[in-house]
Amino acid sequence: MLDLTLQPHRRLNLLDGSWVLVSPHRTDRPWQGQVEKTAPDAQPSYDPNCYLCPGNSRAGGARNPAYASTFVFDNDFAALVPGTPAGAEDREGLLIAASEQGICRVGCFSPRHDLTVARMSVPDLTLVVDVWAGQYADLGRHPHINHVQIFENRGAMMGASNPHPHCQIWASGSIPTEVAAEQARQADWRASHGSCLLCDYLALERESGERVVCENEAFAALVPFWAVWPFETMIVSKRHLTAMDEFDQTERGGLADIMKRMTTRYDNIFETPFPYTMGFHQRPTDGLAHPEWHFHAHYFPPLLRSATVRKFMVGFEMLGMPQRDITAESAAARLRAMPEVHYLGGD
Ligand SMILES: [Zn+2]
Ligand SMILES: [Zn+2]
Ligand SMILES: [Zn+2]
Repeated sequence: MLDLTLQPHRRLNLLDGSWVLVSPHRTDRPWQGQVEKTAPDAQPSYDPNCYLCPGNSRAGGARNPAYASTFVFDNDFAALVPGTPAGAEDREGLLIAASEQGICRVGCFSPRHDLTVARMSVPDLTLVVDVWAGQYADLGRHPHINHVQIFENRGAMMGASNPHPHCQIWASGSIPTEVAAEQARQADWRASHGSCLLCDYLALERESGERVVCENEAFAALVPFWAVWPFETMIVSKRHLTAMDEFDQTERGGLADIMKRMTTRYDNIFETPFPYTMGFHQRPTDGLAHPEWHFHAHYFPPLLRSATVRKFMVGFEMLGMPQRDITAESAAARLRAMPEVHYLGGD
């Protein structure tokens, strides 16, 4: 009989339909992995050379106001710009392209250069959630914007260009690939089961508790059964909410609370600032109701064995499918065991 804790197997990603190879027997193989530089722990609270700090000038020539809370501006080097002329190209069905327009913004979480999500207070983080909900609604209202992607890259290992805690918001005319895949799977489930995929999945996870890391009144954080990254997690709303514009005050505060607790656990694993890409998946803003969509956040952190050894997606993973050694269940147990007091102290 197949033992998921010992034997190689595949797991299906319910949300996007992909598979991940799990090889639990490989965890004790010898390892001489690449050693990454550890990020310095201590950042100054203000950096005169940071283009995100209050009052500083940016590369594009603009100057930041002396902001005291959150601050959002249009990205000076935007990947998407408004007003791109419509158009498409299709040469014999072989060379296919389509015009894309959009709006890219940057959102600073606070004036403090050194204050990460894990070390911000829940009330201050709730103001960041308010900004996200506001940006989602504001950008989504544009007739040519059909999807709003809010995400945070944290740490140089994940390509973050600046340690000042901030997010990016990419609003686009088309629905991005990963979002479209999750939308199709959620719509299929609703059509075949008459219920919501993530409502059903969350109920099963909370019943077993095996992969749940922590919960509050409004959200649960868990390692998905199909996790690819060593400490990948999802935050899922307990109510069936399609997007942030349906959040009540409890949910705004609840998201802030669970994000602070999760990032604190992350930092505590290797007592290092834990790098990750985090982002929200929610209802596209194409004007349709999308009852199939269930709001959630993904955390994709690359660290594997220590502050300096990361997972690489190479070889079979680029050519075949992603693979992991430690199981989702053991990653969840490790995260559950972490204290929710930050190793550096703080709020
Ligand atoms: Zn700064
Ligand atoms: Zn649901
Ligand atoms: Zn998703």
